[in-house]
Amino acid sequence: MNDIKSIIEKKVFETPFIDTHEHLIDEYERLNCIEPIIPCDDWALLLNHYFYFDLSSAGISKEQIDSLFSKQVNPINKWEILKEYWSYLKNTASGIVFRNTIKILYGIEEISDDNILELQNQYEQTRKKGFYKHIIQDIANIKHCHIHSPSIACKKSESPDLLPHDIALNGLIQVAIKPYSVPENVKIKTLSDWHSLIDWWFSEYGKIAKGVKIGNAYFRKLNFERIEAKEVEKIFLSKINSQTLNFEEEKKLQDHLFWYCVDKATEFGLPVKMHTGQWAMNNIMNMHWVKDNPSECASLCKQAPNAKFVFFHLCYPHYEEMLSLAKNYSNAYIDMCWSWSINPLAAKDFLKKFILTVPNNKIFTFGGDDKIVENLIGHAFVARKGIAEALTELVIEKWITLSDAIDLVEILMHKNAVKMFER
Ligand SMILES: [Zn+2]
Repeated sequence: MNDIKSIIEKKVFETPFIDTHEHLIDEYERLNCIEPIIPCDDWALLLNHYFYFDLSSAGISKEQIDSLFSKQVNPINKWEILKEYWSYLKNTASGIVFRNTIKILYGIEEISDDNILELQNQYEQTRKKGFYKHIIQDIANIKHCHIHSPSIACKKSESPDLLPHDIALNGLIQVAIKPYSVPENVKIKTLSDWHSLIDWWFSEYGKIAKGVKIGNAYFRKLNFERIEAKEVEKIFLSKINSQTLNFEEEKKLQDHLFWYCVDKATEFGLPVKMHTGQWAMNNIMNMHWVKDNPSECASLCKQAPNAKFVFFHLCYPHYEEMLSLAKNYSNAYIDMCWSWSINPLAAKDFLKKFILTVPNNKIFTFGGDDKIVENLIGHAFVARKGIAEALTELVIEKWITLSDAIDLVEILMHKNAVKMFER
């Protein structure tokens, strides 16, 4: 049994991931500490994404959070702020990601009074020109990461081979100019001008993007219906003239633009990546909406048989339904990004069930979904541990053979992503 475990573990840890979803800020922005995306430039920055949300969940005050991520507070004193909460969070997946990051990257076994100065020194020494490539490829063993930029809908990447970008469509669906630059020749006066703007984004970036990303599940249900342009022309005019739309008008307009964008993506051969399930931000999640995501995703698949939908985050916690969805719809794919740091045991359970339930060409197993590059190290470690355990358990439980498990490793960790996203 130990043999099986170590053979599979070795293969999984040697095999590179293609990372299909991150929000990494550019290395240039990191090195120049560009605000507001970089609130501080010290070891606490490593806590500035999913750990931050868990800190909020634990009840940390606004003043403490502000101090923890402030440029004005001495990095050494920041440990005093974290210390009060550390024992509550150190065993959550976001805590385990942080612990493995500092262990692998800095050789620090456990954060404590004794090594906080060393942690800060190591942070500073690591953060220097070229550290993105070193961390991503040499340490985390990731070939490249698909980027959904936190600051702009899409751009030409500073390192296209390492950090290719997706086109983020939220604002084009919600009619929000920011963060979309509007080219000189496009003046937004009518719905057809807005279509031209969408067309421009696709013609500018459609050939270099790996996919499009739709995160509107944070703002609404996924019950997008096909609505003709003529039905929403007037609504669009009200919208751009800053008149308040009622719920139905807003939905109709977004529904129309969603399908305009999805059809455009399909025309460009771009997979449509969609947020489903758990919300990152605290104290606002609408769990009724989340519960309906899987059945509404099925309806999207049905309405656009030629589109390729990639559903994110296992729609956690409704992952059994996503197995059913992916099993039934040939255009439904699953991306396990973020899952390993939401609930690694659910992610392992999902992967085991997926392998026995759904054709295995329809899954991508890793994306850190993070802004801070260092965190990819701990997150990739946790994902590899989960993948190795899932495969080991399937072999020990005699569902598959050891050789089946070994054959699956590259398929799960990068081959599926190559087939889907390398055009
Ligand atoms: Zn994301």
